[in-house]
Amino acid sequence: MALIPFDDRDGIIWFDGEMVAWRDAKLHVLTHGLHYGSAVFEGERAYSGNIFKLEAHTERLINSAKLLGFDIPQSAAQINAACNAVLKANNLVDAYIRPIAYRGSEQLAVSAQLTKIHLAIACWSWPNLFGADRMKGVRLALADWRRPHPQTAPTASKAAGLYMIGTLAKHQAEAQGYTDALMLTWDGYVGEATGANIFFVIDGKLHTPIPDCFLDGITRRTVIALARARGLEVIERHITLDDMATATEAFLAGTAAEVTPVRQIGTQDFTPGKITETLVADYADLVLMQPEEVARRAA
Ligand code: PMP
Repeated sequence: MALIPFDDRDGIIWFDGEMVAWRDAKLHVLTHGLHYGSAVFEGERAYSGNIFKLEAHTERLINSAKLLGFDIPQSAAQINAACNAVLKANNLVDAYIRPIAYRGSEQLAVSAQLTKIHLAIACWSWPNLFGADRMKGVRLALADWRRPHPQTAPTASKAAGLYMIGTLAKHQAEAQGYTDALMLTWDGYVGEATGANIFFVIDGKLHTPIPDCFLDGITRRTVIALARARGLEVIERHITLDDMATATEAFLAGTAAEVTPVRQIGTQDFTPGKITETLVADYADLVLMQPEEVARRAA
């Protein structure tokens, strides 16, 4: 498959308040965010022109920046408006939206108090993280890399630097012939995949790890609400590999991954079943609803 490089595409990117031609949305190589990882981002999806849970994503973006010690200059309302505007400017209705905020190039050292904060928002067409075959179920390798202790890294932040671990884990998994990796937490419990949270069905109940050292995904919270609305019991807890061995179904939940069945983790097989299918369908229905209806259901 021919790759279309991300810096050589048609389109428009919202960049520090301006609509900029895609190929002109550049920054200097001596940018703090690049050298020291002082960058936070979001991954959002629009369905039929509506960005699903836009307010929650914007709130997390602002909070991710605060956790890295900086304030994004734009208000939440301005960021929401910019996300919608860039979607329109690119004539897209079904798309992935990527806001990123980062420290600029005024200082290039560990101390970065005087750097300016930049915000860029791009969007493009991206059907699903795992492609057309995802309903067959993805295969996850058990990664050697683990999610760090919350005192080691700002784990509640969607910080660019934390994806260094994800890329290492994912590359290792791909080298072993798997689609993605399941990472454990620093203390050995089941954590998350490299870009999505994980759920298991054990004895007819839904079990998912407590997100105490990784992202509490917006999709994760949505799936928990959908499951409870179906009368399913949802248990958030620390899950060991022995617990995982008793699970019959497993699936991933994330904005890019949506709800994706898992058919293998390491040497363990899972059979995507009724509960997974129901939640895949409920999520697919919910994302197509008008934002007011989505908000009403979450209340
Ligand atoms: N964990 C990681 C590492 C992720 O990158 C994502 C995707 N943002 C998630 C979990 C799921 O988060 P969300 O459902 O908010 O997209």
